[in-house]
Amino acid sequence: MYERYHVPKNEMPPMGEPFSKSSVIRDARCMNCGRCKDACIFSVHERSAADPRVMADPKSYLCKNCLRCVEDCPQRALSVELSRSYLELGGGLWTPQRVVTIWNEAWTGKVPVFGAGYRGKFSGTGYDSMWTDMSEIVRPTRDGIHGREFISTSVDLGKRVDYLEFDASGRLITKMPSFVEIPIPMILDLTRLDLTAQAKTGLMQAAKALGTMFIAPAEGYLPNGRNGSMVPLFSAGNTASRYDLSNPKMVEMEYSPDWASDLKALKERFGGIPVAVRIQAKSGIERLAVELASSEADVIHILYDEQSQESDGRLAKDSLMAVNRALANVSLRERVSIIAGGGLAAAEHVPKSLLCGADAVTMERALKVALGCHACAVCDKDRCTVDQNGITSDWSKWRAVNLVGAWRDQLLEIMGAMGVREVRRLRGEIGRAIFYEEIEKDAFANIKGGV
Ligand code: SF4
Ligand code: SF4
Repeated sequence: MYERYHVPKNEMPPMGEPFSKSSVIRDARCMNCGRCKDACIFSVHERSAADPRVMADPKSYLCKNCLRCVEDCPQRALSVELSRSYLELGGGLWTPQRVVTIWNEAWTGKVPVFGAGYRGKFSGTGYDSMWTDMSEIVRPTRDGIHGREFISTSVDLGKRVDYLEFDASGRLITKMPSFVEIPIPMILDLTRLDLTAQAKTGLMQAAKALGTMFIAPAEGYLPNGRNGSMVPLFSAGNTASRYDLSNPKMVEMEYSPDWASDLKALKERFGGIPVAVRIQAKSGIERLAVELASSEADVIHILYDEQSQESDGRLAKDSLMAVNRALANVSLRERVSIIAGGGLAAAEHVPKSLLCGADAVTMERALKVALGCHACAVCDKDRCTVDQNGITSDWSKWRAVNLVGAWRDQLLEIMGAMGVREVRRLRGEIGRAIFYEEIEKDAFANIKGGV
């Protein structure tokens, strides 16, 4: 029987006391009247178990910032402020808000709610200067994203044919290229993640539960965690892995000056499955993409840094659009799939990457954040306060599944509001995006002193 794809969720609270975005401070003016206990419906204020005549320290992590207790306190003894540890989270693209949002998504698997009282900016750099065209927003509200109107998030990775040819008897004579279909345009990339064996095993299990793939080094993966979802990554010049890598759905190789011979070796060894070439994004990536698309490469996996930039600073948004345009200009866009990785810090970055030209994305740092990482601007192992030792594979698995599930639901919300029923149709559709730089230019370019 037909079964619609959906991501199973399983609430997985953080280890230890949940993170507190707010600090609820009770000062010496408190006379222990208990009115704040009645005012707060989130149980932040309770009387002390040891001595019910006095109030216990507030449980700040439960606070939702409504300020009702502050208003009700007759002594003006309460204040609520953003906690110092919240303000110190993340760095650059990875804002405190984004880090905490990922933690909550990994905990509950639910779509975060923003909007009411939002006082932040409506534009930033890179993907944050893009908005998606939500002109169809009325339609999905009729039925909901999980309703009768099916929205497909499946993508194919590999080469595609422009048309099919049949012989006189109606037999298909087109040689079908190798491709792999995954139900979500998100792949877990474990290759650059510094995690414990238990945490990595959980992420591998998460990929299997999600029906997607994970990328891990062909040499040195965890044998007990291997499953059919693995995409082995071969380092340059090392295509003869010692391990048994039977039946992978896709393989990946590092780009190097000798990429052509590595590609040939992998094609011979894994005939019939797509081979991806992994390449660090840098200036001129569009020329390399054309060169690779003209070869036997089926997929190009472009890696940006965790601030969503090429190594020389061009933004991933602009870089991906340049690659997509360069391939389309020489009619090679269907000859290769593009996977973009690095710097995806929020759910909306997935559809925005696709609009800029990617077929799928890889998730890396967001997975580590889901497991408790603070996404510090500079990762310093000696000063890191996040304890990975208590992570079990089951906890790691469900935190990742919840995160991906929440991101997929947000992808469905965005596609529903855009009136797009297939994620494949998002690829390169920049006409369905609005770019802040362009509307700013339209509005102000002709004004004296304008941009
Ligand atoms: S309402 Fe104010 S004075 Fe009363 S217990 Fe709470 S903090 Fe103390
Ligand atoms: S601000 Fe609101 S949620 Fe926070 S402690 Fe006071 S009443 Fe409770």
